[in-house]
Amino acid sequence: MKPNLSLPLSNFPKISKKIIPALKHLGIRTMRDLLFYFPARYDNFSNLKKIEELSAGEMATIQGQIEDIKTIRLRGRRMTITEAKVGDETGVVKSVWYNQPFLERNLKIGDIVNLSGKITYGKYGLFLQSPAYEKMTFKKGSGEINRSVHTGGLVAVYPETRGLTSRWLRFLIKTYLPLAEELVDSLPENLRKKYDFPEIRESLRHIHFPADISQTEKARKRFNFEELLILQLFALKERTRLKQHPAPVIETDLELIKKFVSSLPFRLTDAQRRSIWEISKDLARPRPMNRLLEGDVGSGKTLVASVAALLAASQGLQTAFMAPTEILAAQHFKTLSDNLSPFGIKTGLLTGSRKNISPDTKIFVGTHALIQKKVKFENLALVVVDEQHRFGVEQRSALIKKQKESDKKNPVPHFLSLSATPIPRTLALAIYGDLDLSVLDEMPRARKPVFTKLVKKNERRETYDFAGEEIKKGRQVFVVCPRIEISKNDTKEKIENFSQQKLKMMEVKAVTEEYKKLSEIIFPDSRVAMLHGKIKPKEKEKIMNRFKNHETDILVSTSVIEVGVDVPNATIMMIEGAERFGLAQLHQFRGRVGRGAEQSYCFLFTTEDGTETARLKALTNSQNGFELAEKDLKIRGPGEVFGMRQWGQSGAVTLAINNPELVRMARQEAAELARQDPTLASFPGLSLRLRQMQETAHLE
Ligand code: ADP
Ligand code: MG
Repeated sequence: MKPNLSLPLSNFPKISKKIIPALKHLGIRTMRDLLFYFPARYDNFSNLKKIEELSAGEMATIQGQIEDIKTIRLRGRRMTITEAKVGDETGVVKSVWYNQPFLERNLKIGDIVNLSGKITYGKYGLFLQSPAYEKMTFKKGSGEINRSVHTGGLVAVYPETRGLTSRWLRFLIKTYLPLAEELVDSLPENLRKKYDFPEIRESLRHIHFPADISQTEKARKRFNFEELLILQLFALKERTRLKQHPAPVIETDLELIKKFVSSLPFRLTDAQRRSIWEISKDLARPRPMNRLLEGDVGSGKTLVASVAALLAASQGLQTAFMAPTEILAAQHFKTLSDNLSPFGIKTGLLTGSRKNISPDTKIFVGTHALIQKKVKFENLALVVVDEQHRFGVEQRSALIKKQKESDKKNPVPHFLSLSATPIPRTLALAIYGDLDLSVLDEMPRARKPVFTKLVKKNERRETYDFAGEEIKKGRQVFVVCPRIEISKNDTKEKIENFSQQKLKMMEVKAVTEEYKKLSEIIFPDSRVAMLHGKIKPKEKEKIMNRFKNHETDILVSTSVIEVGVDVPNATIMMIEGAERFGLAQLHQFRGRVGRGAEQSYCFLFTTEDGTETARLKALTNSQNGFELAEKDLKIRGPGEVFGMRQWGQSGAVTLAINNPELVRMARQEAAELARQDPTLASFPGLSLRLRQMQETAHLE
């Protein structure tokens, strides 16, 4: 019977039970996972030398026979030294390892070994210092030595974990790589030919055991292209599926738009005009819009969305406007009802703790409660999701799902996501390929840059003094407490249990302490308030409103103020433990100030001096969210950037950022494939991968 690549690793004899948990920790559960576990880099041991050619300071590999090996325990110290003498036809050299006494059991006199490592000059001449070693084996029936796995040439180095070294991984992969023979190549042959990509089995060999760097590069490019192609095909499919449904037509009422725009106290930016135009054109079509509106903090996304809601409402159609937090929902509710009630339009609010809805409500602003409380929409025509990076794909599908699963004649509402994590266009196209994109790449008015400073320990006092002065002038201050982190080494289960209960408690503690310190010691004459996850939503809103109305001067909080909140009179943002936040998030915090006419300030405090990371430096050097988001993705990788957690695993984001050219290729080829063969019936490998992707996407 053929071993099945999707079987768990416990089914394979050479994989000891002991290392299964470590493998799991690396995300390796099945044989397929193992074969597709790619190296992080390669050590270059290609400098194969004869012993007489060695010189001090170089990295080299030698091949020779063990002439002697012994382990000495250093007296009085808990340390062992294993020394071997290795000879080839040109000479003998010593090799030394520290605290690896078991080597003596592995390497015996007479063994042929490869040793790779640094050549060092010591008291007794040249020696190899802690070299990587490999006992060589012989091809059956001949005296020929097998190709090396761990030494000589390029040697793969994998992301490791405790109890599982690259050496182990290389051994396992070497052992089981022959199973790759049963893999079916999902990349169509014509594309492989066109781009000169190696086929799948060869690619795997070249990734794990390359003869030279160009082999690994080609193989990697092939796998990258394949990932991006499948992502694009998936997006195309989702897009086509959605477009099969009808959607309510919302006419573009130019007169009304003009009237609304002229009722505003400001002029629209060109980017806002362009986006409103793109959105209205979509709404006027009988097919559901699926559009992402991207723009930096303060670029005026809400306004663009409210034009869409206005058009719908004026034609008797309903809009659901969803926000990630109650505070934001309340704020949007206020903005929308203020702006739209003059046009006779009723806006309602529905959150976990508040319900303010009348029968003639046309715009429903709310949180998750909008979905969970099963509001009976009569003619929902538009769904707006604010700060998409918090809301996620799941909620989107939850709203659309009911209609999606039933028959195709059911109308589906238009969908507009607002995102404040401005991501580069190629990246957006790669990962949100099923969305159309509108970008607000222009700020309403020339905003004064927010003065941003990394504060050293000994500058804390003067920074507080400065804030005190600002408060005296009538300004307000935000203080953000450090994010409570869970160690990266904790298990997933532990993290999940932890995050709900304990994290909240720890956060409450941190905020309460900071609040006490500021209100009692530092700013005893100012009005200080605090905000954290344990405070009831209604109370939260009151606290927020008091701050907005300048009944308090300082607001100490967890990261809840991160998104959206608008208090133009606040000019100072102080962030404690700034090194614990991501760049995009820090930029969001900073976006809370600098909204009024006054000069604003953002002070970054770190836990220790000297923890100023590349991220914090980047923040002090740039005010541009697009630029920062791109940097953040490069510095931390996508898994950490908000809203991209779901893509972090697939690596698609990193891929897309680093390979814009490959993204373009994949988009083009995906469109061509879908045109030639919409069902992909003639590409079974591809359609299989697509089905798998669809299953995971819908499980989420
Ligand atoms: P964001 O894109 O971060 O959601 P908002 O929609 O909250 O931004 O807008 C930020 C502020 O800018 C709001 O107070 C809004 O009224 C104001 N605003 C929006 N568009 C303009 C404009 N064209 N000119 C001036 N101010 C604007
Ligand atoms: Mg907003």
